[in-house]
Amino acid sequence: MEIKKIGEVKSKYKEPVGPDEMRKSKSVIEIEAEYIDGLDKIDDYEYLQILFYFHKSEGFDLISRRRKGPERGLFTSRSPRRPSPIGLTTVELLKREGTSLHVYGLDAVDGTPVIDIKPYTSFMDQPSLSLQKKTPRYKINKMLKYQNMHDLLLKAGELHGHYCPYLALGVLAAADALSSLAGENDGMEDLLAVVETNSCFSDGVQYTAGITFGNNALIYRDFGKTAVTFINREKADKGIRYYLKDSDFISREYPEADELFKKVVAERKGNEEEKEKLKKLWQEIAFDIIEESPDKYFKIEENIDIDIPDYAPIFKDEYCSQCGEKLMAVKAVKEDNNILCRSCARSSYYQLDGRGIVEKNINN
Ligand SMILES: [Zn+2]
Ligand SMILES: [Zn+2]
Repeated sequence: MEIKKIGEVKSKYKEPVGPDEMRKSKSVIEIEAEYIDGLDKIDDYEYLQILFYFHKSEGFDLISRRRKGPERGLFTSRSPRRPSPIGLTTVELLKREGTSLHVYGLDAVDGTPVIDIKPYTSFMDQPSLSLQKKTPRYKINKMLKYQNMHDLLLKAGELHGHYCPYLALGVLAAADALSSLAGENDGMEDLLAVVETNSCFSDGVQYTAGITFGNNALIYRDFGKTAVTFINREKADKGIRYYLKDSDFISREYPEADELFKKVVAERKGNEEEKEKLKKLWQEIAFDIIEESPDKYFKIEENIDIDIPDYAPIFKDEYCSQCGEKLMAVKAVKEDNNILCRSCARSSYYQLDGRGIVEKNINN
């Protein structure tokens, strides 16, 4: 086992004065010059986790009385006296100047060797209630900003119900598009997506981009292709399209999952054990995919022209003369001067289902 010192703490505290007192102070972490490239883009993060070495600590007790309360085991405490005298503190990054990181909240004395630094992002799980109400997509925006792909997929599963390769592909495409197009979407129809399939892929897009049928920003083009085009109509008149260029990668790289898919989903013949096995494989593949670069799977076309509808109109309402229910006037059927809904008129209508958009008659 080898652990390296990557830097050193500069603090006004030469000796420990208690962690609470020290965490209220600013200090500087001076990183050694040979590691400077490792700090690239570190200012993207507001919080960092600092691992450091308690160089003044000696020995340890496995059970001892803490400052407050009864005796307890060492590994339930933050005592500096431990078999591996390593400290871990989450700090706020105030600014970076070359090899100097100015931080707030580090409880380490002057001269403490720093052994590692990691970005801290799970605070994004805890926005204040008022912030959450003001910006409903706060957590997702943070995940997108930090390209926290694993957590995005994890959350997309809440919408979709299971993890599968195409859900992951939808998340991957949408996260990539949002980073180049818009960033934050407030669901007011400025950012649009034109999806060309209504498969699992579309749910990855919907969750990640905040683009849904309900907010009228999701446009369905019944082409039956795994493809999506994003466009921000406020910012550009050109879109960015993702088309799945390599749809055979599952049968090629994950033949077992491919065989199970045919049996369980396509033929609906799998037993419970096979269904569970497929779910497990799908989950593994999905979390593999999400760590890859989008251009591994997609042909990405930028600056493409795309025909987009206007903002959703607000239609006037009518009442059906037979059932009395209210409907959009443009959806009504007129028969002998009577206004009828399609159901009462037994008229044909369009339905979006697993086959795409299909025209239906009331009797089929
Ligand atoms: Zn799925
Ligand atoms: Zn009616």
